[in-house]
Amino acid sequence: MSVAHRVPPGWRQIIEDLEQQVEIVDAYEDDWSGDLIIRALLDDMRDQRLVAEAAAKAAISCRECGKPGRLRGNRIVCRDHSPGDPWQRIIRNSARCLACGDEIESTHRHDFVRCRCGKLAVDGGHAYLKRLYDPASRWQETSIEEVVMPFSGFRHNGMGDDIND
Ligand SMILES: [Zn+2]
Ligand SMILES: [Zn+2]
Repeated sequence: MSVAHRVPPGWRQIIEDLEQQVEIVDAYEDDWSGDLIIRALLDDMRDQRLVAEAAAKAAISCRECGKPGRLRGNRIVCRDHSPGDPWQRIIRNSARCLACGDEIESTHRHDFVRCRCGKLAVDGGHAYLKRLYDPASRWQETSIEEVVMPFSGFRHNGMGDDIND
């Protein structure tokens, strides 16, 4: 039976193609790294190579649509399916509720955390910044994001100065 349904839609074809050649036991998206993990019965070097190639292809294919993608946050996506600003990587997803003083942090994608008084909740881990709050109450953003160097568009001369042209 095919395991392709267990992976995100953008990677199904990769798994279906691989299944023609290798017996796959399981395939899934690693929630922490965003990688496609493939467990297969490997008979020989050829099988090993095919599995490695499939995983490498997924690493540059959008999990949603299969178009060229890259790791943004902790999901491999194209720009259209990027959960947030493609040039930002979330290091810490947190906020402070000014009603009760709690600072709450969401550490992974489905980590929904609510403050003591219930007026603020954060979700999304390092994938996206989701906030749920009582509109009458106040809260403060305490997240940390870093700017990610894009694949192209900027060039660097290796000496710490941008090339102007
Ligand atoms: Zn996409
Ligand atoms: Zn609170």
